[in-house]
Amino acid sequence: MSKKNQSKADAHSFFSCIEKNFDKAARYLSIKKGLLEQIKSCNAVYRMHFPVKIGKEIQVIEAYRVQHSHHKLPCKGGIRYSIKVNQDEVMTLAALMTYKCAIVDVPFGGAKGGIKIDPQIISAENIEKITRRYTSELIKKNFIGPGIDVPAPDYGTGEREMSWIFDTFLSIRPGEVDALACVTGKPVSQGGVRGRKEATGLGVFYGIRELCKMKEEMLSVGLDIGLNGKKVIIQGLGNVGYHAATFFHEAGAIIVALAEREGAIYNKKGLNVSNVILHLKKTGSILNFPESKNIEDTEKALELECDILIPAALENVIHKHNANRIKAKIIGEAANGPVTPEADDILGKKGVLIIPDIYLNAGGVTVSYFEWLKNLSHVRYGRMEKRFSENMNTELLQVIETSCRKKIPIEEKKMILRGPREIDLVRSGLEDTMINGFHKIRDLKKSLKIENLRTAAFVLAINKIIDSYEKLGIFP
Ligand code: NAD
Repeated sequence: MSKKNQSKADAHSFFSCIEKNFDKAARYLSIKKGLLEQIKSCNAVYRMHFPVKIGKEIQVIEAYRVQHSHHKLPCKGGIRYSIKVNQDEVMTLAALMTYKCAIVDVPFGGAKGGIKIDPQIISAENIEKITRRYTSELIKKNFIGPGIDVPAPDYGTGEREMSWIFDTFLSIRPGEVDALACVTGKPVSQGGVRGRKEATGLGVFYGIRELCKMKEEMLSVGLDIGLNGKKVIIQGLGNVGYHAATFFHEAGAIIVALAEREGAIYNKKGLNVSNVILHLKKTGSILNFPESKNIEDTEKALELECDILIPAALENVIHKHNANRIKAKIIGEAANGPVTPEADDILGKKGVLIIPDIYLNAGGVTVSYFEWLKNLSHVRYGRMEKRFSENMNTELLQVIETSCRKKIPIEEKKMILRGPREIDLVRSGLEDTMINGFHKIRDLKKSLKIENLRTAAFVLAINKIIDSYEKLGIFP
């Protein structure tokens, strides 16, 4: 975002944007004010400064961990590395995690972490030092642990950082039998689960695909049912954006533009996502990709003609100053908080369908939940049932072949016989979660005549959290 738009978009705090959305939803519920305040507020905010020796200098690093809600434990949420990290941002992202987990029935309270550094200009060695020191600070204050608070990747972090966190945790807490479950998003070789890396992008794909199956909604924006041939723009080609782009491309959607920090590329006939990534790896930029047009002002890519716009980089990128110029009919919020409340109102009046972040990017935490369960159970998914399923399927096929007096072709046989692998089970669980979540929000929107999916998603989340508080017996 340009400096000019940044200051305009940030005129109000990010946390107050979420509060506005929450308050809109609260109008549909008759809940005591005090209880609503309890749900909204952050339960614990840990702001820390610690020294790290970088080269010959000592640098003081600013970092945060916020636990928004303890209504379910452990708390759960990613860790962001960005020079823009600040307390308001981390508090907001932690709050979003609480609502997100409630919507997709993942039994965690929301949390988030952040370190104010630019990982692009710091060496891997120094990022490791900072990550390990941050983890030991969390351990000192009891802000991390399998049953306390479980971090995961977010903007600027990935498997590498998660494995450093786990290793630091284990070295300080040797012998802790469930130590693997202190962090998710780890490499598979270190207790991670297959399918976690692409989970958020795949969840975004499942969520938008589900909306595009709905005749009523597609009629309202003048689009055909299905994803095939739909024109898609994606902002941010990181973990979430890259995987989402790949799944849309594979499903027959046309990726007309991709936007990164340095600029955007456009081709109305479609961009081949894997070739763009190869070009990016080779040249260090997506710009000058063959047969595509460069767009220097990357923000302008959001305003191009398309059916589906997927902001997958950062918050507040669609604001009151560009909302009117957005031409997309559907916006899928892959990033957290990409649309400000003012922009939300403008787009709502234009009839744009927005699938909200608190549902759409919940694929990551859903699969993190699967990883956490795997770590606590100390057994890989599919280990117990794979052979059993294969043996049962073999017997079933033999019965079918004998009674039909016909041999099933070998390739088809292989497909039917195969027992579920970990990746199959994880993806099936993710798909089911995203489809169910979408319909719960949509049904609530219809039954309570709620103005949009975002408010309906907040109503669903608040209801679920109230249920948990009631079960805990905290509020009579
Ligand atoms: P990432 O660091 O892997 O990727 C972010 C990408 O956005 C990078 O490629 C970066 O260069 C690009 N970018 C930065 N500024 C940009 C700009 N102005 N215009 C265009 N591109 C820009 O981060 P990520 O994990 O993919 O997260 C992206 C968003 O998704 C964040 O809002 C994050 O909170 C949210 N999210 C991530 C996860 C997850 O599992 N990683 C889960 C839920 C939500």
